[in-house]
Amino acid sequence: AHRDPNQTEFLEAIDNFFKTLTPVLEAHPEYIDANIVGRLTEPERVIQFRVPWVDDEGNVRVNRGFRVQFSAAIGPYKGGLRLHPSVNLSIIKFLGFEQTFKNSLTGLPIGGGKGGSDFDPKGKSDNEVMRFAQSFMTELQKYIGPDLDVPAGDIGVGGREIGYLFGQYRRLNGYQAGILTGKGLSYGGSLARTEATGFGLLYYTKALLEAQGSDLKGKTIKVSGAGNVAIYAIQKATALGAKVVTASDSNGYVYDPNGIDFKVVQQIKEVERGRIKEYAQRVETATYHEGSVWDFDVDYDIALPCATQNEIDGGRAARLAQNGAKVVACGANMPCTPEAVEVFKKQNVLLGPAKAANAGGVAVSALEMSQNSERLSWTFEEVDDRLKDIMKNIFDESAAAAKEYDLGTDYLAAANIAGFTKVADAMMAQGVI
Ligand code: NDP
Repeated sequence: AHRDPNQTEFLEAIDNFFKTLTPVLEAHPEYIDANIVGRLTEPERVIQFRVPWVDDEGNVRVNRGFRVQFSAAIGPYKGGLRLHPSVNLSIIKFLGFEQTFKNSLTGLPIGGGKGGSDFDPKGKSDNEVMRFAQSFMTELQKYIGPDLDVPAGDIGVGGREIGYLFGQYRRLNGYQAGILTGKGLSYGGSLARTEATGFGLLYYTKALLEAQGSDLKGKTIKVSGAGNVAIYAIQKATALGAKVVTASDSNGYVYDPNGIDFKVVQQIKEVERGRIKEYAQRVETATYHEGSVWDFDVDYDIALPCATQNEIDGGRAARLAQNGAKVVACGANMPCTPEAVEVFKKQNVLLGPAKAANAGGVAVSALEMSQNSERLSWTFEEVDDRLKDIMKNIFDESAAAAKEYDLGTDYLAAANIAGFTKVADAMMAQGVI
C-alpha cells in the first residue's frame, strides 16, 4: 500500500484475495519463505503510453493507454482490453491480478494480463474508433505476440474494435492470427467466443445449483448489463429453462415479466449500438426505469451481475436477499463490494465468484489460440462442449478446495485457493524471478 496509496481498486483486490488464502499459507510455509505473496502483488511489467488521434472535427485528442503484464508463470500474458472513461492504472492492475488466478483456474496454460484506455467509445463514429484503435495498436504492438502476450476484448471492446486493432497489427507486422483473441470468424476467430463468457456463466451456475440438489428450470433471474456478457447469459439461461426478467445499462433497466428476449437486446446493442431503453419501445410487456436494476424489488431466485465492478454494495445485497434470491453468480469482474460479500455470507446467499463464474470467455480465448496454432477451426459444438467441461471442472476444483480446507460453501475463497496454488507452484519451480 505504501507504494501505490491511490490505487484503491488494486489494493482492495489484493487485500480481499490474500485474506482468503490464510489456510493454504498455513499449510504451505514454503510459499511464505519464498515471498510468493510479495512477488504476486507486483506486476511483472507495466506499460503506459500516449494515444493521440484525430476526431471527426479535426481536433487532436489524447488518451492514456495501458498494458499490465501481471504474471507469465504458467503461460503467455492473457487478458482483455477495456475502453471506458473510468480506466486508470489501479483498475487495470486489479483486473490483471484477478486475471492471473482466473486463467490458472481454467486449467489452460495462460498467464495473466490486462490493458485498455480511458477512451470512451460511446457516441464516437466508426472512423473515430478506428483512428483511436490504430494509434493504440501502433504502440501496443511492440509488447505483444502469440507466445508473449495475447489481448482480447472487455468493456467497450467487441468485434468492431478487435477488428481495427488486428488490422493495424497486421499492417505493421504481417498476419499473425495468435496476437489477439475475440477475432472475427473471417480472419482467425473461434466459433462460440462471442457467447463464451455468458454461456460459461450459466454452465458454472448450473454446476453450483446441482451441487445443492437444485437446477435452473423454472428459476427467475435478474441480469444486469446488456453487453457481451449479459446478452449471451440471457440466451443460455432461457435455453436452460429459466426466465430472465431484467437487462440494464448505465442509465437504467428494463423489466419484462414474460422474460427478456435476447435477440431484441442483441439487435439494439450489437447492431444498432443503441440504449436498453429502446427494448421497452419494442416489446409490449416490458417497462423501462431509470436507475440501478439492484434498487428494484421483484421476487427472484438468482442474480447474475454482468455490468461492472462494485454494482452491488451492502445495501443492495441485503435487498437482493429480501427479494428471495439465493444465488449470485458474477458475470462481471468484482461486481460485489466486500460489504456485499459479508451480507451474502450472513444471509446464506451462495456466491459464484467472478474468477470462476466468468472464466468461460478467457477459456475459449485460449481455445482460439490453440486453433490458431493448429491452423484449424473447430465446430461450434466442439468449442461449446469443451467450454462446458472447463466450467464444470472449475466448479469441481473449487468444491474440492472448499472440502480440503473446510470452507463449506465459500466458493470465493475456494476459487482463490485453487487458482493461487497452481501459480505458486510454478513460481516455486522456476526460482526467484
Ligand atoms: P460491455 O461493454 O459489452 O457491456 C457492459 C454493460 O454493462 C453495458 O450494458 C453497460 O452499459 C453496462 N454498464 C457499464 N458500466 C455500468 C455501470 N456503472 N452501471 C450500470 N451498467 C453499466 O462489456 P462486457 O459485457 O464485455 O463486460 C461486462 C463485465 O464482464 C465487465 O466487468 C468485464 O470485465 C467482465 N468480463 C467480460 C468478459 C468478456 O468476454 N467480454 C470476460 C470476463 C469478464 P453502458 O452501455 O451504459 O455503458
